[in-house]
Amino acid sequence: MSAEAKLREQICLLAKSLFDRGLTHGSTGNVSARTPDGGLLVSPTGTSFGRLDPGSLSRFDDQGALIGGDKPTKEMPLHSAFYETRETAGAVVHLHSCHAVAWSMMPDADPDNFLPPLTPYGLMQLGRVKLLPFFLPGDPAMGEAVRGLAGKRSVVMLANHGPVVAGKDVEAACNAIEELENTARLAMMMRGVTARALTDDQVQAVVTAFDIDWDD
Ligand code: ZN
Repeated sequence: MSAEAKLREQICLLAKSLFDRGLTHGSTGNVSARTPDGGLLVSPTGTSFGRLDPGSLSRFDDQGALIGGDKPTKEMPLHSAFYETRETAGAVVHLHSCHAVAWSMMPDADPDNFLPPLTPYGLMQLGRVKLLPFFLPGDPAMGEAVRGLAGKRSVVMLANHGPVVAGKDVEAACNAIEELENTARLAMMMRGVTARALTDDQVQAVVTAFDIDWDD
């Protein structure tokens, strides 16, 4: 099997795993990944993560021209913005995951540091997460907002909509977005009680030990 055929299988397998565990539902969510020749594979518009077809993924060449497969997700500007601003991005995943969306509507959510520092793995996998305002689905302004972060963030949360994560490959991006959903779930569970989050010193120790994107 060629490297691209393996990547196509992997994208569909990981998407189905996310869908089967309820991390996104219906025809929500989209995913893209760099191909070995510098192009992109992208989930088509209107498809379900539970039933992606490896042979129908939208295929772009290294110049960004669509050269095969079905019509891509309407959130392409969001994906492109990550690839353009983060050299290390090999994949981008977007979900409509329930707890992350719930936390984005909470008055306590800090736009510049969306998730409270609850676990070291949340910090290590996500760095500092930016909460972006509400945009109409498919609005190219979302891509502009991501470009405005100048590649300093690998994760953004779209308010009342869902998280978007860039990773070095599709597995890393999926792992990180699962960590985000889990952290948001913990935040929701701990809301209203005086939970012991990590202290500033503990956060700084994790940031230093694991070289996390944290400063502005
Ligand atoms: Zn969406």
